[in-house]
Amino acid sequence: MQKHLWYDATQIYIGGVWKSPAGGQQLPLQNPSNGQEIGSIARGTAPDIDEAVTAAQTALDGEWGRMSALERGRILTRIGQLVGTRLDDLAMIEAMDVGKPLTQAKNDAIALARYMEFYGGAADKIMGETIPYLDGYTVYTLREPHGVTGHIVPWNYPMQIIGRSVGAALAMGNACVLKPAEEACLTALAFVALAEEAGLPPGALNVVPGSGEEAGAALTAHPGVNHISFTGSVGVGKLVQKAAAENVVPVTLELGGKSPQIVFDDADLDAALPFLVGACIQNAGQTCSASSRILIQRGVYDELVARMGVSFDGMISAPAQMDANLGPLISARQKEIVTGYTESGNDLRIAGQGRVHDDAPDDGHYVAATLFADVPPDHKLAQEEIFGPIQVAIPFDTEEEAIAIANGTDFGLVASIWTKDGARQMRLAKSIRTGQVFINNYGAGGGVELPFGGTGKSGHGREKGFEALYGFSTLKTVAANHG
Ligand code: NDP
Repeated sequence: MQKHLWYDATQIYIGGVWKSPAGGQQLPLQNPSNGQEIGSIARGTAPDIDEAVTAAQTALDGEWGRMSALERGRILTRIGQLVGTRLDDLAMIEAMDVGKPLTQAKNDAIALARYMEFYGGAADKIMGETIPYLDGYTVYTLREPHGVTGHIVPWNYPMQIIGRSVGAALAMGNACVLKPAEEACLTALAFVALAEEAGLPPGALNVVPGSGEEAGAALTAHPGVNHISFTGSVGVGKLVQKAAAENVVPVTLELGGKSPQIVFDDADLDAALPFLVGACIQNAGQTCSASSRILIQRGVYDELVARMGVSFDGMISAPAQMDANLGPLISARQKEIVTGYTESGNDLRIAGQGRVHDDAPDDGHYVAATLFADVPPDHKLAQEEIFGPIQVAIPFDTEEEAIAIANGTDFGLVASIWTKDGARQMRLAKSIRTGQVFINNYGAGGGVELPFGGTGKSGHGREKGFEALYGFSTLKTVAANHG
């Protein structure tokens, strides 16, 4: 596999230097499409994290810390351009590493380039304010970087999540330490190699692969880290927040969801159908904003469930290189979790179910996409984040009932409303407790400009868009008494 790469995937990257991890150990790398070992990545541990934090601080004290916002932005833009020249390579690497169908993997690479372009352009456009105050005073605010930012990224969308968190943090002038998921390190390393080529100064971005328990925990507990951005499970999110509390540093948590789409009787079903199904099966359901609950008003319930069922019946799970509707899940463990959920629906009606391609290797981590119908809103399948291609259809009668069901989980990440009634659109957009609401669409194409984050157990803080730049900076008020 190494021959496909333009960097040494067995190393870590600290202070502009590629090196072996302090402990000298490696972790095996598996291709989820066939279960085969395809190489190894460095097993970074606490001493590597310590060195990376020191390197980041050194960068802040040196060239990177002194660099103008304009020049930072130019470097980010150059990184984006370089990413743009390697889209197919990045897609191939990601497909091999995490089992993403090639088209999805390429879309992730395109998004990474776009994040760099967006944050490159935004770097010199974040401004403070002047504040009218007492006679004899001039008061203004400065937006300043936190300092060293820690980034813990999961395996489901490595390129997109690196783009949105590291891109915004660098634009604001922070120096980053990135701990990718051990199951998905390759594109993180590919990215930093391109950043180096684009002229990012040493120490501005350091990448330390390793396990969550070792490298991840060391990063979140490190007293030299001034802000932590975490995307992953609720359980680990709580650990990260506790560790951040010990050092009294801010933390952004993006912890997934149980996102509903609500379809009313007057909705354009033809327009809705691809979004209803597609937003669940994308990335084999391993998406924080996957739409795993479809709430359907009684008048169109039977028709829509039947049509969705037909779509599910046609869904094929196959190796990433075959670029089918779904790839494999990330790991045997994830397959076990998702299979357990499917079995928990044995008492429910299956309205549609895809299949695993005949040529899919037995040792790949495949599951069939499944649509369960008539699911009680309090059923485990309608309440818990599954992170697999399982969707539930829930009937409702009134608008009030739809709102109650939509808000009736611990999560609050994304929701969509399908109706032609403008007043109803506005009422629901206000009543639903999520970080994003879409009207007659789902995801709006995932635009990098759109602030993203959750409420409740979906987490707190916002990434993406300009809003992320506020999150990755701190505000200083300057009050001058000049008489
Ligand atoms: P985790 O929350 O364990 O992993 C997310 C990231 O956190 C990874 O980089 C992981 O490293 C790291 N990590 C793990 N333990 C620690 C720790 N103690 N301190 C600091 N960092 C740590 O998710 P899983 O991979 O275990 O997935 C389990 C479930 O989480 C999924 O089924 C899904 O429901 C949810 N999830 C949600 C995501 C989202 O986008 N909201 C993304 C991924 C998972 P490493 O992997 O190297 O151990």
